[in-house]
Amino acid sequence: AAVIVAIDGPSGTGKSSTSKAVAAQLGLSYLDTGAQYRAITWWMLNNGIDVANAAEIATAAAKPVIVSGTDPSAPTITVDGEDASGPIRTQEVTSKVSAVSAVPEVRALITELQRTIATEAERGIVVEGRDIGTTVLPDADIKIFLTASPEARAARRSGEVKGSDLAATREALIKRDAADSGRKTSPLAKAGDAVEVDTTDLTLAQVIECVVTLVGE
Ligand code: C5P
Repeated sequence: AAVIVAIDGPSGTGKSSTSKAVAAQLGLSYLDTGAQYRAITWWMLNNGIDVANAAEIATAAAKPVIVSGTDPSAPTITVDGEDASGPIRTQEVTSKVSAVSAVPEVRALITELQRTIATEAERGIVVEGRDIGTTVLPDADIKIFLTASPEARAARRSGEVKGSDLAATREALIKRDAADSGRKTSPLAKAGDAVEVDTTDLTLAQVIECVVTLVGE
């Protein structure tokens, strides 16, 4: 039967690298739900939507067509047919995505998309995000919640983003976590039945091995 793996946690915990590697190793599909929220945010910014205005966001939420490619060795995301994988990683999008993803209408639409993609994955899927184990796929076969110290997370993020300043990265990351954890609809949270893995002192290879073992149990 198809196995559903939910991997949640804040950014900088190695969530994406781990999820992709686990999916590839186990022959499963892969879905980056953060990329979907980034894609809708990118569309809003490109289409003159005031992202400080929840009502405006809610009204526009159903307009963009967001399509995710779920091959873990080459995940893709398009918005209205246009490749969005580069532009969704800009600082502009990163700084606005929490506000857009806090709007309930946005979450309802993206959650529905996620459930459809998970259902259609024949061999199963690794879905990574913030609310996968709690809200999107509460019946997932295995739930993992990744954590790491703010210092480790900032250092990892800083290493990924060219020319970024460590202190500023740490500030931005903590601010985004607070917004994601504090929103009313489906906040970033560990599901009661999730296994917590603290990655602070683990290498990526160790985290991958740990998750693959948990899925195999
Ligand atoms: O994982 P990533 O950093 O790309 O996620 C970007 C943002 O998308 C998060 O900060 C959060 O605001 C939102 N998100 C969410 N629910 C998810 C995944 C991401 O609200 N399941």
